[in-house]
Amino acid sequence: MGVNILKIYVDENKCIACGDCKDICPKGEIIWSINKIAHASNLGYCHVCTICASRCPTGAILVDRNAPGDDKSERNNQPHEDDLIG
Ligand code: SF4
Ligand code: SF4
Repeated sequence: MGVNILKIYVDENKCIACGDCKDICPKGEIIWSINKIAHASNLGYCHVCTICASRCPTGAILVDRNAPGDDKSERNNQPHEDDLIG
């Protein structure tokens, strides 16, 4: 049985690399990197405030605080609707 962990998904088909998520995030400099698309890492710093998801102009961000954390579950890690915030 895997441990559920926080994950932040960015839809690469929606992200326009505007950087708003990084700008609005209280820990943006630590968590967000913006290249061709945005990527969130260092999620130990994340407050799970979901402001990034609210701010994203294209709705590209999903904050999932109950994502499967073990490797075997990675293949099936489509977020469950009930677990999604933002
Ligand atoms: S706010 Fe949304 S569209 Fe803009 S960089 Fe972040 S994820 Fe991409
Ligand atoms: S949920 Fe809040 S703290 Fe976490 S990445 Fe988004 S804006 Fe930053």
